[in-house]
Amino acid sequence: MNPKQLLDTLQLQPKKSLGQNFLHDPGILDKIVQAAELSPQDTVLEVGPGTGALTVRLAQSGAQVIAVEVDDRLLPILSDQLRDFSNVRVVKEDILNADVSALVGGKPYSVVANLPYYITSAILRQLLETSHKPQRLVLTIQYEVAERLVAKPGDLSLLGVSVQFYGKPSIVARLNPAVFWPRPEVDSAIIRIDVYQQPRYEVPGEQEFFRVVRAGFSQKRKQLKNSLGSGLGLSNPVAAALITSAGIDPMRRAETLSLDEWAALTQVVAVKVK
Ligand code: SAM
Repeated sequence: MNPKQLLDTLQLQPKKSLGQNFLHDPGILDKIVQAAELSPQDTVLEVGPGTGALTVRLAQSGAQVIAVEVDDRLLPILSDQLRDFSNVRVVKEDILNADVSALVGGKPYSVVANLPYYITSAILRQLLETSHKPQRLVLTIQYEVAERLVAKPGDLSLLGVSVQFYGKPSIVARLNPAVFWPRPEVDSAIIRIDVYQQPRYEVPGEQEFFRVVRAGFSQKRKQLKNSLGSGLGLSNPVAAALITSAGIDPMRRAETLSLDEWAALTQVVAVKVK
């Protein structure tokens, strides 16, 4: 049965507030699982199993699946759909309050999810900023957000820099709204993020790096010397001198800097601004 038929059996309606757009296209579900490259030795966390269409395919890979669903109305459907699999554990919880490291038993893990779009940024932060990061994420997100994640210098945003600091994102496929029920209003994308196992950029500290990047992006369309100056509480000439000593033109805008340039700027700020 497809997700609509499964919800109909219990006379349930999808909840928009929980981002419930269920995937029902088998080809797309297969593409997501292929991108995750799972084997029976792996542990995979699924956020929002919904009616279990993706969960069943994850379970068929033989990996240990931990599926975290906040909507308890769906639990009877999930236990029925997953009755043949002993390698799946469904946990009723809000993922944003969950201790992910404990859920995966401290093991290396991947994350696979057709995400509820309202938590995209929050979940990326939760999973990437923790010490026990996933090795890989394969997520269905809004296409426009996926484009921001893979953006190159010239089009980078705070979100793009934040994700690229931790891993390498790539778009696996663009998805038409018709592959979901109910249809979302926008196109979606399958995105894969391969998380760096060792820090890729040398910075004095992650917090310091993000303090500088946030300051740089604090004022839209302003030159870096203005946004960094006001974000860090420095005069524009002082900010301009710092930026120059990192080898960067202070008249450039934040969205044009590469990750290496943000790292170089952080080094200079850490040494010269106490
Ligand atoms: N995986 C299913 C599929 O592909 O058809 C459902 C995906 S649907 C886009 C998002 C799912 O995430 C829904 O089942 C929803 O109830 C669940 N969800 C929403 N917010 C959540 C949260 N904070 N924690 C855990 N699950 C959540």
